[in-house]
Parts: sequence; structure tokens; C-alpha cells
Amino acid sequence: MTKQTILTGLRANNDLTIGNYFGAILPMVDMAKTKADDYQINLFVPDLHSFTTPIDHNQLHSQTWNNLRIFVAAGLPLDHPDIHLYRQSYISAHSELTWILDCLTGVGEMGRMTEYKDKAAKLHEDRISVGLFNYPVLMAADILLYNATFVPVGDDQTQHLEFTRDIAGRFNNRFGDIFTIPKSVKEQHVFFGNDQGLRIKDLHDPSKKMSKSDESGKGVIFLSDDPQVSAKKIMGATTDDKANIQFDRDNQPGISNLLEILALLTGRNLQEVVAEWKGGDRYGDFKKTVAKEMVLFLTDFQQKQSSINDAAIQKRLESSESKLTITAKETLLRAQKAVGLR
Ligand code: ATP
Ligand code: MG
Repeated sequence: MTKQTILTGLRANNDLTIGNYFGAILPMVDMAKTKADDYQINLFVPDLHSFTTPIDHNQLHSQTWNNLRIFVAAGLPLDHPDIHLYRQSYISAHSELTWILDCLTGVGEMGRMTEYKDKAAKLHEDRISVGLFNYPVLMAADILLYNATFVPVGDDQTQHLEFTRDIAGRFNNRFGDIFTIPKSVKEQHVFFGNDQGLRIKDLHDPSKKMSKSDESGKGVIFLSDDPQVSAKKIMGATTDDKANIQFDRDNQPGISNLLEILALLTGRNLQEVVAEWKGGDRYGDFKKTVAKEMVLFLTDFQQKQSSINDAAIQKRLESSESKLTITAKETLLRAQKAVGLR
């Protein structure tokens, strides 16, 4: 019996942050390792999604490789037969199926996507691309090509998963059983036992989450930051004037964020870390401890990253891309026949 497929990806549009690392990469790698005996894991770099919003194209190629190395440094095995690693743009069926689905998608339904509305609101009108508008269609193709059933989704992507289910269902109703419909958001959450709730906050403005495409980057720690710079960012983190360390996200978001970061860096649970520091009034000492752990973490991580063997990644990419091209082309051909192109 063929295994069901779990599919997940991480956009390479900028350097990655510690939020991306603890909130996405580490959970993805752990998931791949624990589920690969029972499922096929499709882990991909959605490079075609990278420039739905404007980027520096001179950086795209190196950023893609950076992301690949980060996955490996985070523990992703390259030699498991059922953990696939691939670049979206190397499998042309993604683009081809997108066009077919584009022509069966309403302008209205894309316009209702909140991620589109949020991102478009932050851009000047002349920088809002058609790609930003219809990237959920590309995302649907990413999923449907491999008959994936499980796709871990954060809040910002749930609407797109629902759209994928919609378009696949509509296509099947009209043209026959062509696509596998992925599980509902609720079933995904049950399956992945979600703690997708983790949100590291911006150090400068702890009312918002840390984001890799933040304009100023002042409150953001990138995995590529010089460790000493990261220490300065921690020491400069916005806190409060209560002189009382408490885990209270609403009233002391800055201190709470630092407690959470300290727990993640040291691999301890949050309650334990909170119990250790609770009631303390010396924010400076506390920050120094967080800064020290951040330096240790980044130094170690960057060293791991620089010792990664690119040839081993390249070999994995080529083998996954050639194998998955076959699956993707089979699905594409079914869709092409269904709509009368073949
Ligand atoms: P962008 O500014 O381009 O939206 P981002 O940092 O918000 O970048 P995304 O590409 O939107 O990153 O998301 C990538 C993954 O990282 C998602 O799984 C998301 O849930 C996770 N993630 C992003 N920011 C954080 C954060 N601050 N804390 C925890 N997880 C995060
Ligand atoms: Mg985001």
C-alpha cells in the first residue's frame, strides 16, 4: 500500500528569524522524523512563492540554499527514503496546474482572502502583484499534485487550505475523480496535535509578532545575526517599569516574551523557567542570561550550518525532484485530460 503524503514548505523571501526556527522549522523537522515511517513527507522550498511580494532577486538563490541548510542544521535527515526535499520551481507541473486552476477560480473568491488583503494593505498599489492575488491557487496546486492529505497550517493559511479543498471538490464534481481532497483544518489540527500557537514577539514592539519581513528589523533576531548583535538586541528589548518578573502576556508582554525565548533556547519548559525567575526585580540580570543563551545558541547553530555538506543536499534534491516529477506529471496529465487539453 502506498503511504499517505504529508506536505509542508517554508517561503524563502528573507533571512529566517528565531520565530521561524522555533515556530516552524524545528516542528517541521521533528514531524518529519516522527512520521516518516508511516507517511511520505514532502518538504519543499516554495521558491515561486518568494516573490509574490517584492524581494531582492539577487538574494533569492542564496536564500533558497540558506533555507535548505537551515533545515539540515536543524536535524533534517537527508537519507531517509520517505523524506523528500525539493524546490518547487524545479517541478514545472506546479506552474502548469496553477494555470488550469486559475481559469476555474473566481476573482471574488481570491479577493476575499484575508492574507491577500493584509499583505496588499501594506504595499503601494503599483507593487501589488497578480501573483500575490492568486498565490492560493499555486498553493492548491502544490498540495493537489502530490495527493497530499495532511498539510500543517498556521492561522494565516487556513483559508487557503479551505480553498484548496473547495477547488479540488468542484473540479472533481465537474470532471470526475481527479484530485485527492486534503483533510479539513480541524482534522489537520487533530493529526498534528497542534501547538502551532507559538508566537515569538518582536523585541522592540512586543505587541506584534516577530516577522522576517519587518521593515526596521530592530526587534527581530535573524538566524544569520552576529551573535554579539543578537545579545545587544536582547539587552535593548522593550520591557516595562514594574520591576517584577511575571509571565503575563497582556500586561507584561516584553518580559513574557523573553521568558518564552529563554525556555526555547534552553530546551526547558516554560513553567520551570518562569518559576525560576518569578518575582525578580533585576531585569538587567535576567536579560543578560537570555542574551548569553542567545549567543550560545546562534554560535552553535551557525557553526552547524557552515559545516553542512552542500553536495549531500544537492544529491537529495535531485533524487526527490526526479521522483516527485513523476507523481506530479501523472496528476497534471489527469487534469489535462479532464479539461480537454489531452
Ligand atoms: P513574513 O514577514 O514574510 O510574513 P514571517 O516571519 O511572518 O515572514 P512566514 O513566512 O509568514 O514568516 O511564516 C513561516 C512560518 O514561520 C510559519 O509556519 C509561521 O507560523 C512561523 N512563524 C513566523 N513568525 C513566527 C513567530 N514570531 N513565532 C513563531 N512562529 C512564527
Ligand atoms: Mg507571515
